[in-house]
Amino acid sequence: MRLLIVLMLFSVLFAGDYCNHCNGSGRVECAYCSGTGEGLQCYTCNGTGIDQTPCYACNQTGWTNGRRCYSCKGTGFIMKRCWSCKGRGYSLCVSCGGRGVVNCPRCSGRGSSRY
Ligand SMILES: [Zn+2]
Ligand SMILES: [Zn+2]
Ligand SMILES: [Zn+2]
Ligand SMILES: [Zn+2]
Repeated sequence: MRLLIVLMLFSVLFAGDYCNHCNGSGRVECAYCSGTGEGLQCYTCNGTGIDQTPCYACNQTGWTNGRRCYSCKGTGFIMKRCWSCKGRGYSLCVSCGGRGVVNCPRCSGRGSSRY
């Protein structure tokens, strides 16, 4: 019975020790990207997520020998997922690395205000 009281006291003390800036989680929303994890628009694909390269098989005409170009399916361009942003259309936030959260600056990610 005495052990139970000690445990309860311990939990109360621990609860009061929580960093109130991050509610004890040690993580706060990234201010740089507002928690989205998104950085700047990808300059390689202009935010489309598609890397469009001219088709050389048909010289961008979409036709080879009177037939629809097999390589680009008549579009004149080869569509690939953007290698730079992996099809996301944006680069990852440099501040949080795309996670959307950063370590709490008040408690250095510990979640506790105690050392
Ligand atoms: Zn904190
Ligand atoms: Zn083509
Ligand atoms: Zn891209
Ligand atoms: Zn961020």
